[in-house]
Amino acid sequence: MRVHLINPSDISFGIGVITPRWLYVLAAATPKQYGDPVITDETLEPMQPESIEPGDVVGIGIHTGNALRGMEVGRIARERGAYVVYGGIHAALFPEEVQKLGGAHVVVKGDGDVVWGKVIADLLAGTAQTIYDGGRISGEEFVPARWDLASRDRYMWASVQTVRGCPKHCSFCSVWRTDGQKPRSRASQKVLGEIVALRRLGYRFIVLADDNFYPVSLEDLRLAERQGNTARVAELRALRAERFELMEGLAQLPQDLVFYTQITMEAGEDTEFLDAMRRANIKGALVGVESATEAGLKDIFKGFNLAGDNLVARLRTFQKHGVHVLGSFIFGLPSDREDTFSATAELAKRADVSFAQFVMLTPLPGTIDFERWEKSQRENPEAASIHGIPLTRYWLIPAVERPKMYIPHPTMSPDELRAHTQEVWDDFYSMSAIWSRSKCVSSLKGRLAFFFISKLYRQMYANTGISTDSARRQRATRMARLLAIPCRKLFEAKPMPELKLPGAGSAGELLPIV
Ligand code: SF4
Repeated sequence: MRVHLINPSDISFGIGVITPRWLYVLAAATPKQYGDPVITDETLEPMQPESIEPGDVVGIGIHTGNALRGMEVGRIARERGAYVVYGGIHAALFPEEVQKLGGAHVVVKGDGDVVWGKVIADLLAGTAQTIYDGGRISGEEFVPARWDLASRDRYMWASVQTVRGCPKHCSFCSVWRTDGQKPRSRASQKVLGEIVALRRLGYRFIVLADDNFYPVSLEDLRLAERQGNTARVAELRALRAERFELMEGLAQLPQDLVFYTQITMEAGEDTEFLDAMRRANIKGALVGVESATEAGLKDIFKGFNLAGDNLVARLRTFQKHGVHVLGSFIFGLPSDREDTFSATAELAKRADVSFAQFVMLTPLPGTIDFERWEKSQRENPEAASIHGIPLTRYWLIPAVERPKMYIPHPTMSPDELRAHTQEVWDDFYSMSAIWSRSKCVSSLKGRLAFFFISKLYRQMYANTGISTDSARRQRATRMARLLAIPCRKLFEAKPMPELKLPGAGSAGELLPIV
């Protein structure tokens, strides 16, 4: 009997940008008596069905974007006689779907770190339930990943988690509902231990794959103080202090490490925090800008963001304090108009963001937007369907036939929205615009790296994601595969097998620490 862990994907690029952390966490959570799991990441290469044998246990993690392929993988595994287990947000939201269409024996909801070993044991003993709830485990229980099982020459960035959960409540996001609004942070020493293990293996670029690296804003503190809520103030201060402690630890690690994370825009007013990020070598962050207008921010319950010139100034503050911004923008909000696209592209340039992504509003299950849209579709006798599949189950429609917009816009058609969004990508990632932005790094090698990575980013996320034309998608995938090879080389680093955890004096610290 072998345990398999499969990350499904319709598109394989040969090289991965970021390691799918869950694969290596569940590998670590797999009890030793079952041996090392067989790990397949289909963003690299498709699965090999013949590797699955009767009696094997196959774990498949799905989100809405890869659910259809994930269910195909599950059916293949079940036909080959394996026990099929699903996890991930989509399976948790639609357990009946994966049971009916994906050959699921078991669905695991919530965090898999702790419950995974029991699921395998129960399956093998013939006592498995159909649904397990892994709950929301505490930061101390987060399992560090088995990085020794990852192919070092296939990924650019490793990923480490320092905190789960986000206190905000954006309408298009499911994180605060699935991972909870109470941040659960991991002890700094455990995070640092995992990073040291990664640097020993030759990983230099590491994503701090948190829901929100900045879980306590200055505004949160001010509010709690105004309310005279001393317990809350103490709780927030403790959480904030933990963040600083972690960043001080990161600053003690080899200076060639480069970290990247995601953060709310509020961090831009907290220059003490930004300076600590810079000292910690957290060189970049995805910032959910979402909309350049106040009306747009109101549409998505993100009133804590800034708009217009204040937004430009706030984003520039990140850059001034040494944190490069990947600005994330959403198009298709009810208040968007034709001029929103060019105004957003212009604002992204003025704000000195190093990278940007422009996504079309998609109602993702588990979000408020999805619930509102699903309700409106239920009440609409003329609600659309494709091949008999209602649009509210759009992930079951083959990717090439899937519409690109679901929520009707008051003034623009889906094609207009898609075309305008593509134009913004083309404009922001034109050769001249990228080269001009590459000035944010000093060496020629650095500028070339910036150029290639910008192009790869655009190929992977814009051309394969927005295009409705399958020939263009295939061309984009081929191009991304080609670009990914030189790009990955830029992320190579010499292993440091002797590296110790900061502050550790004894040779014992050279033993595996994750
Ligand atoms: S979009 Fe970001 S800030 Fe908003 S709830 Fe999700 S993780 Fe939190």
